[in-house]
Amino acid sequence: MKHKTIIEPFRIKSIEQITITTEEERVEYLKEAHNNLFLLDADKVIIDLLTDSGTSAMSANQWAGIMRGDESYAGARSWKRMKEAIVSLTTYDNVIPTHQGRAGESILYTQIGGKGKVFLSNTHFDTTRANIEYSGAMAIDCITEEGKKPSLIHPFKGNMDIEQLEDNILKYGAENIGAVILTVTNNSGGGQPVSMHNAREVKRICDKYGVLYILDCCRIAENAYFIAEREVGFEDYTYRDIAKEMFSLADGAVMSAKKDALVNMGGFIALKDKKIADSCINTLIIKEGFVTYGGLSGRDMEAIAIGLDEVFDKDYLHYRIRSTTYLGDKLIELGVPVMRPIGGHAVYIDAKEFYNHIPVDQFPGQSLACDLYVKGGIRGCEIGSVMFGKRDEKGKLIPAPMELVRLAIPRRVYTQSHIDYVIETFEEIIAEKSQSKGMRITYEPEFLRHFTAHFERV
Ligand SMILES: *Cc1c(COP(=O)(O)O)cnc(C)c1O
Repeated sequence: MKHKTIIEPFRIKSIEQITITTEEERVEYLKEAHNNLFLLDADKVIIDLLTDSGTSAMSANQWAGIMRGDESYAGARSWKRMKEAIVSLTTYDNVIPTHQGRAGESILYTQIGGKGKVFLSNTHFDTTRANIEYSGAMAIDCITEEGKKPSLIHPFKGNMDIEQLEDNILKYGAENIGAVILTVTNNSGGGQPVSMHNAREVKRICDKYGVLYILDCCRIAENAYFIAEREVGFEDYTYRDIAKEMFSLADGAVMSAKKDALVNMGGFIALKDKKIADSCINTLIIKEGFVTYGGLSGRDMEAIAIGLDEVFDKDYLHYRIRSTTYLGDKLIELGVPVMRPIGGHAVYIDAKEFYNHIPVDQFPGQSLACDLYVKGGIRGCEIGSVMFGKRDEKGKLIPAPMELVRLAIPRRVYTQSHIDYVIETFEEIIAEKSQSKGMRITYEPEFLRHFTAHFERV
């Protein structure tokens, strides 16, 4: 028979205790944290949906690999395993290990960036943009119109806008383009996928103008799942073969292994061109470590090699994407406004619409994030005017374009009953929706306010 329930395709061998708190306790904890969920101790959280980055559960195989990790300074066996796993997946011969994604970005974009250079992407992730701008270069997003509309249903909302891409190359001059960066899946909007057709179109433009083509491949396995499900011609491909084909189109890749390599720390740069790779190696040795470990322990490299293989398992990917969709679909059934279609690694709630009685300058996203914590011990993340709002000269808030709360799903960590508990918490939040009050900031630092600001209820 064909079952309708998709089960977690794993059993639990080792567990991590969750401290179950009461609502009264959580009211107190939140007060001590000044209504900022970043200031909460993690053990006061029941379901932690702050991020999917570095929060994956490793498999028994990966833990066994941790014991086998070779900690030799140079030429470690674990490095060879990691390198082989990356070369066979990406088809790029030059691999540079880094301690996480942004370290790779910093090294690569310092080499190919700098003043006068321009980078074009479907959407630059925030650390990508920061590293490009820090090098003195400019980062421009070329996202399609569909990608900008939160409630519009479209199979590939992460796609690059090819016309804008070409226009920008002509405007700034091909010789000034540092690279074209295709981010798969596109992190903004909860991991919207990019089609193979779009990846090929990007290659066509890059070839036409002789521009370097880099994949930001943090979630390439999740993206491959969407291609197999939604794009004509890929029904009979394995997820791994879809990923390999996408890599074959580009000239190189940067990866945060904290996402689809199923580990808690790690990253790499992989490049076709040996010259660019060699230029990166000097900085690597100064900033990260020797070429055969680059800031990673042998055991981390062993776990990455295994994780890069496990992530393409068809049952894992099916469970992964379907469980994110499960949460999103149930919230839609309850009438909660969410960004659609549901992406690969997170569900985004439109707090401006959900709490439409709270004005934007009273941070409806922050109110909802705090309510989720008080009612259920759930930690999500405000992505709205607390994170991205600016102030004018008089100190008045210039709001962000959207007021969202992101519920990011760690890989292989929570079961369906945990997610059902989150859904139940929403039922209660909906029932008391009109009573929720907005927030006012009582303290804010000059930069990256969301991490340390203090709030009180209006
Ligand atoms: C997480 C992420 C990065 C940065 O990686 P870190 O490991 O957090 O430094 C870069 N690009 C994308 C798309 C990401 O999701």
